[in-house]
Amino acid sequence: MKGRRLIVAATRLPVTMARKAESWEARASAGGLVTALSAVAEGRQFEWHGWPGAHVPESDRPTVTRMLARRGARPIFLSKADIEGFYAGFSNRVLWPLCHGLTDLSHFTQSAWQAYERVNAMFADAIAARAKPDDLVWVHDYQLALVPEMLRQRGVNCAIGYFLHIPFPSSEIYRTLPVREDVLRGILGANFVGFHGYEYVSHFRKACLRVLGIESDPELIKTGARRVYLGVLPIGIDPVEIADMARQKAAKHEYSSLRTAYAGKKIIIGVDRLDYTKGIPEKLLAFEELLRSTPKWRERAVLVQVAAPSRQSVDEYQALKRRVDELVGRINGQYSTPGHTPIVYIHQNVSRTRLVGMYQAADVALVTPIRDGMNLVALEYIAARGELGGSLVLSEFAGAAYLMPGARLVNPYNIHEVAAALGDELEREHPDSSHMLDFVNENTSSAWAERFLARLEATTAEVLPASRPLRVTQDPLKTRLRTARHPLVLLDYDGTLRSYERKPQDASPSRKARRILSDLAKHAAVYVISGRSADTLEQWLGDLPIGLVCEHGFALREVGRAWEERGTVAGHALRRVLPLLEEFARRTPGAMVERKRSAIAWHYRSAEPEFGAFQARELLSELEEMLRRRPFTVLRGNRVIEVRHAQTSKGHAAEEILRRRRDADFVLCAGDDRTDEDMMEAVARLRGEHGVRCWVGGRHPMTTHWTESSATLLDELGKLAELWARRTEPPGPPANNAARAHTRVRGKTSATRRD
Ligand code: UDP
Repeated sequence: MKGRRLIVAATRLPVTMARKAESWEARASAGGLVTALSAVAEGRQFEWHGWPGAHVPESDRPTVTRMLARRGARPIFLSKADIEGFYAGFSNRVLWPLCHGLTDLSHFTQSAWQAYERVNAMFADAIAARAKPDDLVWVHDYQLALVPEMLRQRGVNCAIGYFLHIPFPSSEIYRTLPVREDVLRGILGANFVGFHGYEYVSHFRKACLRVLGIESDPELIKTGARRVYLGVLPIGIDPVEIADMARQKAAKHEYSSLRTAYAGKKIIIGVDRLDYTKGIPEKLLAFEELLRSTPKWRERAVLVQVAAPSRQSVDEYQALKRRVDELVGRINGQYSTPGHTPIVYIHQNVSRTRLVGMYQAADVALVTPIRDGMNLVALEYIAARGELGGSLVLSEFAGAAYLMPGARLVNPYNIHEVAAALGDELEREHPDSSHMLDFVNENTSSAWAERFLARLEATTAEVLPASRPLRVTQDPLKTRLRTARHPLVLLDYDGTLRSYERKPQDASPSRKARRILSDLAKHAAVYVISGRSADTLEQWLGDLPIGLVCEHGFALREVGRAWEERGTVAGHALRRVLPLLEEFARRTPGAMVERKRSAIAWHYRSAEPEFGAFQARELLSELEEMLRRRPFTVLRGNRVIEVRHAQTSKGHAAEEILRRRRDADFVLCAGDDRTDEDMMEAVARLRGEHGVRCWVGGRHPMTTHWTESSATLLDELGKLAELWARRTEPPGPPANNAARAHTRVRGKTSATRRD
């Protein structure tokens, strides 16, 4: 795949810098990701942002930056404290154990989290300074989960992809994370998020639902107006590289020395980082059990276990090392003879070339992590054995388990089961691993990278137009606002002027919101266009000098006048729909039915989130069937399903207001959910060039501006009122043709009635 520039963010650069006497040396660091990306880097501009692997003093940074630039690498320089907090502290002591399901080992500290935020922001700053609209940005792994959203906040608008290389835990486990919202929101800044397995996607979706209340489809999460696509893309290895390594002297030497030393015996290989997720103690216990229960293997099988040192400064890793040392000592002590030691324990980092020789020599690979995102060792073993075939005893908790037909899957916690499986595999003379080999040969690491980028590029058709953060005191907006003679302000209520509450009745307006609305109304015509009932709006806002629109456009009340109504949901629809909604409310604890004149709504904000969403899907399909070809719209809002008359929408209401206020020379409208899109559409169509359309909670394709939350919107509205108050030349009174226009509209103009 050729073409667009690719910007990669991964904690470590593919080049490690090391201090050599008075100068610096750059060493290429091999690794799965480097191999995977080298193929997609060809034929396009490519740059990689990451930490150069060493603390570089300030004075040396320009030199190091130049050296790295020659290799397409851009350094993020980290202080020792940053590395400790961001990498060891939060990434490896909190997220790593948590994502592997080991909550007991996850130790949160506020200072580590702050370092994590700080370093993620450094990555985001560096990339935001470089990214252009047509670029592809690919952020890797759990250490950089906040980067996608941070990029959005910095105005980056190109396609952003994120891949999680480790498992995503079940939502029960994920929810224990103190900063669970921030991490999810961070990831959701991406357009496309990839995982190794479907299980992780479904865990991620459940976490989004339970933590953020965001419902989703299996491949798509809609957050605010943005779409985040989800994909299952298991990474592979490079079998050609393995074949090349197998031809090298180091691999051949390893192979022949093992084969000679253990001639006539069976060799079992284990290769792991010395990490508590790898299940090394359990593996040793299973091997011990095999030797205990099947004496014939005591002198006829050897377990060659490579345990590469890892994260040695962390207490848990030191404890693990002690435990493994102890177990190896115990088992070898018990079962060694003068001519045979059952476990060869290699506590060293072994080169991959040597590993290939070891794999080739091994009859069985014993890969038994208690949790592993993927596990490349399993794939490397199959590739290295090639046509020879090999037996793979594989934990069902490794991502690779879904991909390796023919592997002997085991529960690593069940020592007896693993021992029995190992015993069976040792008996096999010519294991056939051709299916697994086919998969490994086809699903290469470069194919994986190409697939990811293709999926990411496909989302760019939807990358949003460059909407800006709403800042009313910054030009050019400030000038436009100051010079507006007859401004018009249209505001949604829930989620826009006020954040959501579990119980809708609790979301009354703050004093600040009421004051700002009054202040704005001194200089502009202001309307609150809400889904709420007329009663509620009157109670909360009725004394303010502003127009009100209730029930998503069903009725409009100009300042000091009575309500004017539009289409109602009555008769037939009511008779059929109401019993169905009531039935669903009975069947769904926490759900409730709300009857309005224009609509009937089924709310499930207080229902158990997953069950509520499940019931909502059922209800939607029944309603769609029931109301086909009838003048009603079924709308799914934020934890609510509403049936309403097709003539009733916030778009119709906005149109009506714009018609009445033809001389409005500036329109500011703000909203946050699906029902506000109709209003945005009407304003864009009728006053495109004179309007600011602001989305609350993120970007939206139909808006020109956005703001983070209702709180930030209120702040801006407050500043706007001040800006208008300070105008030297007061504007004319807000145009109000309402009295003149107060003629049409079906129904009564009496005060609200409720059925
Ligand atoms: N590896 C290595 N030397 C060692 C041990 C492991 O080069 O002494 C390599 C191994 O070949 C594999 C990688 O490290 O490519 C381990 O990847 P895996 O997905 O199995 O586990 P991770 O360490 O990423 O959790």
